[in-house]
Amino acid sequence: MSIFNAITNFFSKSPKNEQQKEADKIAKDAWLKNENAKWNLNFLMSLEWKRYEEICKELLTIRENGKLKVELTKIGADGGIDLKITDKKNKLVGVGQCKAYNSKITVEKIRELFGIMASENAEKGYFFTTSSFTNDCIQFAKEKKIELIDGNQQIKIIQSFTQQQQNQLYKMATEGDYTTPTCPKCDQKMVKRIGKEKGNEFWGCLNYPRCKNILQMRKVN
Ligand SMILES: [Zn+2]
Repeated sequence: MSIFNAITNFFSKSPKNEQQKEADKIAKDAWLKNENAKWNLNFLMSLEWKRYEEICKELLTIRENGKLKVELTKIGADGGIDLKITDKKNKLVGVGQCKAYNSKITVEKIRELFGIMASENAEKGYFFTTSSFTNDCIQFAKEKKIELIDGNQQIKIIQSFTQQQQNQLYKMATEGDYTTPTCPKCDQKMVKRIGKEKGNEFWGCLNYPRCKNILQMRKVN
């Protein structure tokens, strides 16, 4: 490259860099705006169950201002508890469940949670779901320290966070493959399979036939 070309390049590049920076900023702003707009119920429902649990955990951590420690766990008689909430002194103060369901949560599930609260000596119970609760659930949870958080409420809670927190949560929610469910037993992504008889699609485990776990496909409305 001649010196003349180098100088021309230099001068033609500088304004372009500024323009590029400006364009990048506009694109980034648009991306951020778009990103925030995506925190809605449909998006929440598109998350696979494990990612959903992680988002519930993070949501509670942010809402409690880091005063409580929230962990994903499997405790209770049959591993029925997804969230373990402890205070600064490591004392168990709450347990929670996260259900990425399409259908309404019935009162049996809330009774189950209440039972685990008693057996684990946890003061508070949290029940998160992408769907909603039957009236029986709401009646049962009344005057008990059980917080029922349905999909719409979760979105409201997230929207009450700062822009930065919302973006951070969104980034966490969408990292990598966030829609293919994880095998609850093997902790690895499942694969789409087609039923031999009915030709229906479902999620099967990669470790089949060693693991025969299957999950139904969830439909996002
Ligand atoms: Zn498996």
